[in-house]
Amino acid sequence: MPELPEVETYRRYFEETALGQTVAGLEVEDLRQLTTDLETLQQELKGAQFTDVQRIGKHFLINLSTGKTLVLHFGMTGDLAYYRDAEDTPRFARIVFYFQNGFRLAFIDSRKFGRVGLADSVAVYRQEKSLGPDALDITLSQLQASLQKRKAPIKSLLLDQKILAGVGNWIADEVLFQARIFPAKPATQLTNTEFERLHTAIQNVLNTAIEQEAIYQNFPKSFLIHARGWDESALKPAERQICPHHLEPLQINKVGGRTTYFCPVCQPE
Ligand SMILES: [Zn+2]
Repeated sequence: MPELPEVETYRRYFEETALGQTVAGLEVEDLRQLTTDLETLQQELKGAQFTDVQRIGKHFLINLSTGKTLVLHFGMTGDLAYYRDAEDTPRFARIVFYFQNGFRLAFIDSRKFGRVGLADSVAVYRQEKSLGPDALDITLSQLQASLQKRKAPIKSLLLDQKILAGVGNWIADEVLFQARIFPAKPATQLTNTEFERLHTAIQNVLNTAIEQEAIYQNFPKSFLIHARGWDESALKPAERQICPHHLEPLQINKVGGRTTYFCPVCQPE
């Protein structure tokens, strides 16, 4: 599932390809993938330029020269491809944007959980979705201020997009492992030092993932992800997985209803 690191990789790709292009037309295979009706979308996009691209968590926001914002949700299997010739159209290209320069941008999505539609602006969209600061942008003091009075388990709060946007399940487990914090610890009980470690770990995990273009196999050996598995379908039984630091078996728990891997030695209760 595309999470913050993948979507940041897509954003950089978009910046080098489709950004600045003027839309000539639009082709949509399945109307259920649109959150705005096709006619409105076509009217708004035709002749509009893609002037800016932003990412908040895993939300992908393209500003148009008309003043509106085009929102892309990558769902489970979404991706982008920029190309010129019809014969290069990728498999599962569900929505294709045609540009005046002759190139095209495909919204690829084999499983069709992705969505595309319009918002009035980035600010309006952010408010409607109650999105907190992006997990890469949040400062230590912002993070501490929004967490330290909360009694919920720290892991559940990290997944709350209103507190910070872009932390999914594997990222939360990795961050807490690297910060050496027990995932079910109430946020009120975190020390200043733990908040510092938490903030550093968020930056480290996300920046590492982006540098590696979200190719998990290339992450450092010290990362929990190699033992844990990188998405829900790839999760491995805990008893057969060992901590990369000292070869102790990992434990598996539900925290806030989500499967959670941690090392009982590195992250004591
Ligand atoms: Zn350990």
